[in-house]
Amino acid sequence: MLNQLAAGLRGGLLTPGSAVYERKRRGWNAAIDQRPRVIVECADAGDVRHAVRLAAAQGAGVAVRGGGHSIAGHGSADHSVLLDLSRFKKILITPDEQAVVAGGGVTWGEMVAATAPHRLAAPGGFNPDVGIGGLTLGGGYGALTRLHGLACDNLIAVELVNAQGELVTVDEQHDPDLFWALRGAGANFGVVLSLRFKLHSIPALYAGHVAHSLRRCRDLLHLHRDFTAGLSDATTAYFGIRHQRRGPAYVFIAALHAGPAHEAERIFAPLRRYATPAIDDFAPCSYTAIHQANIGAFPTGLGNYWRAHFLRRLSDAALDVIAEHALRVQDTDFYAVIEHLGGAMARVAPSATAFAHRDAAFGIAITARWRLEEDPAAAIRQVQAMHQDLIPEASGGVYVNYVGADATLATVRAAYGANYGRLLALKRRHDPANLFRHNVNIDPLQSGSP
Ligand SMILES: Cc1cc2nc3c(=O)[nH]c(=O)nc-3n(C[C@H](O)[C@H](O)[C@H](O)COP(=O)(O)OP(=O)(O)OC[C@H]3O[C@@H](n4cnc5c(N)ncnc54)[C@H](O)[C@@H]3O)c2cc1C
Repeated sequence: MLNQLAAGLRGGLLTPGSAVYERKRRGWNAAIDQRPRVIVECADAGDVRHAVRLAAAQGAGVAVRGGGHSIAGHGSADHSVLLDLSRFKKILITPDEQAVVAGGGVTWGEMVAATAPHRLAAPGGFNPDVGIGGLTLGGGYGALTRLHGLACDNLIAVELVNAQGELVTVDEQHDPDLFWALRGAGANFGVVLSLRFKLHSIPALYAGHVAHSLRRCRDLLHLHRDFTAGLSDATTAYFGIRHQRRGPAYVFIAALHAGPAHEAERIFAPLRRYATPAIDDFAPCSYTAIHQANIGAFPTGLGNYWRAHFLRRLSDAALDVIAEHALRVQDTDFYAVIEHLGGAMARVAPSATAFAHRDAAFGIAITARWRLEEDPAAAIRQVQAMHQDLIPEASGGVYVNYVGADATLATVRAAYGANYGRLLALKRRHDPANLFRHNVNIDPLQSGSP
């Protein structure tokens, strides 16, 4: 296989033993240690087509690396042919059309850096190191979601190499069924070489956070619920709980408002009035700065464990569970965040794209991280315990982009929700041999109907 692969490639080929292979086989989550059969540093569409066809002919699975930030480590896989897209970095902005075409290896930091000077943005995630590929193909939410919808809601077209090794353009005119599937379950259907997004004008922004000691957790949770209850789409507020192994534990509300400063100051007043925050840094803010604030917040090279829920509302019982567990966490680098969804995201029908969870007003991600020399068992148990006790208050759905390596078939079904059946039929049509299986996988070979 290696000789055949090498013969048709313009890019590089990395095999076990080389230092670059050792570096590139690893993703963001160091708890997951994968050894692909070979890593293809794809230089162009021809390389991707060649590698996909060869892998298909030999029955090897294809793994795809966009930004490498999969929680489950899907951007690499044992025994796979791993296609590294990090050379697909082209970004072409057409301000007149309010559109951008970006390569499948671009990160959100690179996207923001390219579009912000035009005072334009494609709605994406908060973390600059996350890939536009993985995030968008699973949905994608961040600072502009309540105003302009998910990243996938702003997708206009993709260029894709499919399981037959063909390069195709997929949009509403060309294969609308596949375009539907790509917006929420995309990693199952091919290698996306470029994504074309709608751009939006960046509004004036005002952002910041208030932080308090952990003992105020319960009160701050209730304040967050009351605060988010009456907001327009222009305001977004996340609630966070942070425990550090070597540092104080704290809770915070981070919020941003798209609109003039005097309006933001009025809206944020209740957050800033509550008690005396240890930190209060609300101020006018650039879109770029919101992303730069996340640089280094989730470093590569640590072990990570995440569990997540969607929530239709923040019930009293849910807030009780969150507070009880938050106050109990010990000796762990623990981070839980309640994400504020709804707005434009909720005005798209659950069946309009493969992303089904339009009724989720909130998401919660519960996470722990550790250095590899540490035993993670207790940290993982604390994450699992909070997650487990929240089940009765959650929607039953889970964000595909937060699914971890311990996913079961039930988790996969929960990730695609009511759209699972249609996705399974499309997967059977487009990728019957499950060439693209290193993802939150819709297994076409499973018996029976959905
Ligand atoms: C620190 C951190 C912060 C995060 N913040 C947010 C956030 O603010 N909002 C949010 O919505 N999510 C967020 N996420 C979740 C994130 O969306 C997912 O982890 C996403 O899958 C990462 O995409 P990637 O391209 O970086 O990862 P990869 O590991 O490269 O890929 C993830 C999956 O997508 C597939 N994939 C990637 N690129 C392509 C492509 N071009 N073609 C086909 N398949 C592809 C891979 O095969 C794999 O299955 C965050 C994750 C982390 C670790």
